Amino acid sequence: IEDQGNQIIVHLVQSYPLHCPRCGQLMLKNGFKLVKILGPSLHYKPTIWSIRKQKYLCKPSPDCPQTITKVARVKDVKYRHHISQ
Ligand SMILES: [Zn+2]
Repeated sequence: IEDQGNQIIVHLVQSYPLHCPRCGQLMLKNGFKLVKILGPSLHYKPTIWSIRKQKYLCKPSPDCPQTITKVARVKDVKYRHHISQ
């Protein structure tokens, strides 16, 4: 957490193992996408959630000829149990 005087920045990283929805293989990690969300205020200062979302890539293979990319999702109940790993 970073207090910048007039606002607070909360840094989060969202990354978890993800399997391709088509071929079921573990997807490759392909960098991060930075997303900023205005969150509830802390100590009467606006809070900005700076979230690095993991980007995923599934390389083309016979089972999965198209390149599939996905981005980690915030508040996704389906994947929540992976976040704690
Ligand atoms: Zn795949």
